[in-house]
Order: sequence, then C-alpha cells, then structure tokens
Amino acid sequence: AVVGTSSKFGATIIPRVAALLQVSPVTDIVQILAKDTFIRPMYAGNALAKVQTKEGFQVLSIRPTSFEKAPLQDTTVTVETIEVAEFTDSVWVGESVQQSDRPDLGSAAVVVSGGRGMQSGENFGLLEQLADKLGGGAVGASRAAVDAGMVPNDMQVGQTGKVVAPDLYLAVGISGAIQHLSGMRDSKTIVAINKDPDAPIFQVADYGLAQDLFEAVPELTEKL
Ligand SMILES: Cc1cc2nc3c(=O)[nH]c(=O)nc-3n(C[C@H](O)[C@H](O)[C@H](O)COP(=O)(O)OP(=O)(O)OC[C@H]3O[C@@H](n4cnc5c(N)ncnc54)[C@H](O)[C@@H]3O)c2cc1C
Repeated sequence: AVVGTSSKFGATIIPRVAALLQVSPVTDIVQILAKDTFIRPMYAGNALAKVQTKEGFQVLSIRPTSFEKAPLQDTTVTVETIEVAEFTDSVWVGESVQQSDRPDLGSAAVVVSGGRGMQSGENFGLLEQLADKLGGGAVGASRAAVDAGMVPNDMQVGQTGKVVAPDLYLAVGISGAIQHLSGMRDSKTIVAINKDPDAPIFQVADYGLAQDLFEAVPELTEKL
C-alpha cells in the first residue's frame, strides 16, 4: 500500500499516485476496520461512510488527528534512491512559508482560534497571550477572519483549511458555521466565547461563555 496523510501535501500527491497506478484511492480515513475496510467523512463531516476497497494494491490517505500517536519502534527501513527523468513541464519559482514559533496547528494540544468577531489582525495578539498562558498553544482562525485579511490563510481551520483535533479548542468570536465545525469538531474539549447566546458554536461546545470577547479573553488570560 501507499499511505499518505490528509494534509494539503498528501491531497496533492495521493490522487496522482493512484491515477498512475490506475487504482481508486481511499482518502481522509478516520478509522480502519479491516485491511480493506475504512471509515471516512463525507458532506463536510456530517456523515461517515464505510468504504470497502476491492483494489489489490491500496492507495490511502489518513487523517492523522483521528489516530493516537504510535510509539517509535526500533526498526530499520530501507530507503531507496531512484533516478527520475528531468521534468520540464513546470518550473520551480520559489516558496513562501510563514515562520512562527508557535506549534503546528495540526499537532498542537491546545488551539485558540479567532473569527470575524476579532475585528482586526492586531486583536489576535489577545489570543496569542491566552495561548501562551495555556502552555503555548497554536493560534487558528475562521475563514471569515482570513478572508478579511486579519491573519494568513495557513491559520484557517475548517473544511477548506486545516483539520485539528486538539485536547482543548477555544473558539473566540466564531459563529460555528458547518464548514468551520468540520475542521475542529473532533477536538476533545471545545470552549466557545461569543456574545451571541444563540450562536451555533454553543451547540458543539462543552463549555460556553456568552460574553463580549474583549472583556472575556483579557480576564481569562489574567486569571490563568
Ligand atoms: C465551500 C466553503 C468552504 C468554507 N470553508 C471554511 C473553512 O475551512 N473554515 C471556516 O472557518 N469557514 C469556512 N467557510 C465559511 C463559513 O461558511 C463561514 O462563513 C465562516 O466560518 C464564518 O466565520 P466566523 O464564524 O468567523 O464569522 P461570522 O459567521 O460572521 O461570526 C462571527 C461571530 O463573532 C461573534 N462576535 C462578534 N463580535 C464579538 C465580540 N465582541 N465578542 C464575542 N463574539 C463576537 C458574532 O456573534 C458571530 O457569532 C466556508 C464556506 C464555504 C461556502
């Protein structure tokens, strides 16, 4: 089998590998039931499909947040270097990677995310201070905050952003649209701060605080 992760990188590679091998890939696996049978989400995480593959050779992508970390084993793996023909159809121009001292969103134990309610990129500093008090968590965002230019798009959590499942997810000024929920609903504990008591985020939250975030977040940070 060829196995990759359900990251943006994996989503670029796995379908191409499957097409070259002429097999149908099974993507975004959240549970393995048997060697050929898997559970994967569909409809933005609203339904789970049980998929049985008939392919003799499997090409799979796995959602890492759905599995416990496996302990490192003392096995040696043979790495083979292969020669590939020069590829001229596209040209490498460069890459622009956001540098951050914060942990990676996908693997952080604590994620504090802000939405449109944050009002500006500067105000995300409040969430960074809160994340620091919570042991140096990652800071994420809703698409509305990204689209408004408050923060870069590699911070986006959701259907078209990153899928996270930390021990603690704090949603601040986020309404709880289905596309956002599909990226964080598997978090172990969800805390929401929103001034609208009817915001849908409270339906998935384990703890909710219906309060203005500009009062609640500094107070919480101070008390921690
Ligand atoms: C195909 C598609 C893919 C998408 N993918 C994603 C995705 O990956 N991730 C994602 O997040 N969205 C995604 N979206 C967008 C999604 O539908 C929502 O528009 C978006 O999540 C809304 O972001 P928000 O909750 O920050 O903003 P809003 O829905 O505007 O909510 C802002 C919230 O902040 C609260 N608020 C405002 N001021 C304060 C304050 N002072 N104190 C406390 N609370 C306050 C408000 O009560 C409100 O609930 C996608 C949409 C589509 C169509």
